[in-house]
Amino acid sequence: MTITDRLLTPGAAHGRPGTAIKPVGVVIHYVGNPGSSAEANRNYFEAGAAGGRASAHYIVGLKGEILRCIPETELANHAGKSYGAQWDAMAKTNNHRYIGVETCHPDATGKFSDITMESLIWLVSDICVRRGFDPRAAVLRHYDVSGKSCPLYYVKNPAAWTALKDKIIARVVKPKPLVELVAEKIGLNSPGLWQDVIDGKRIATADQVRSLFEKIAAAI
Ligand SMILES: [Zn+2]
Repeated sequence: MTITDRLLTPGAAHGRPGTAIKPVGVVIHYVGNPGSSAEANRNYFEAGAAGGRASAHYIVGLKGEILRCIPETELANHAGKSYGAQWDAMAKTNNHRYIGVETCHPDATGKFSDITMESLIWLVSDICVRRGFDPRAAVLRHYDVSGKSCPLYYVKNPAAWTALKDKIIARVVKPKPLVELVAEKIGLNSPGLWQDVIDGKRIATADQVRSLFEKIAAAI
């Protein structure tokens, strides 16, 4: 996958005020304009959409292309408006906390096509790995942080959102190796006889070794 730089012109009028941020997660959006391209949406931001109050860090297009509009450590205007009293406080800080990813979609349902979905999953996984985000907590819908029905299809169909998020989690969160799981289960990592043996402080007897192997056998 490649990310193409199509950075917005610096300046609040272009949705790129230049405010430094320290992102803690990623917010996923849908563009809400069926059939529009990533480039068209980027140019909409550049032209000062909503008086410069609309922008995003990335746009994933209908052909799976990825445009970068704003560097990840600069503020974008993508989630600053509240759509219900319970989101009022959150909305004030969203743009300072989250990297915004806009996603193009072919029709009014807002469902992402397979090729777009593939790029979106790749991009968000890449951001999580690079920045050390745990996607279970750090990957959110626009809805989750502001109450807006965005990305529409994935707000109306929570199972589709869970499936999307699970694919990102599977790429980022590596399962623990079996040996570690077994060690945890039989308490090998806790202080005691076997830690002393591992540390070379004690010699285990044949009976103790046999008992250890029995525990391992029972655990797997
Ligand atoms: Zn949105």
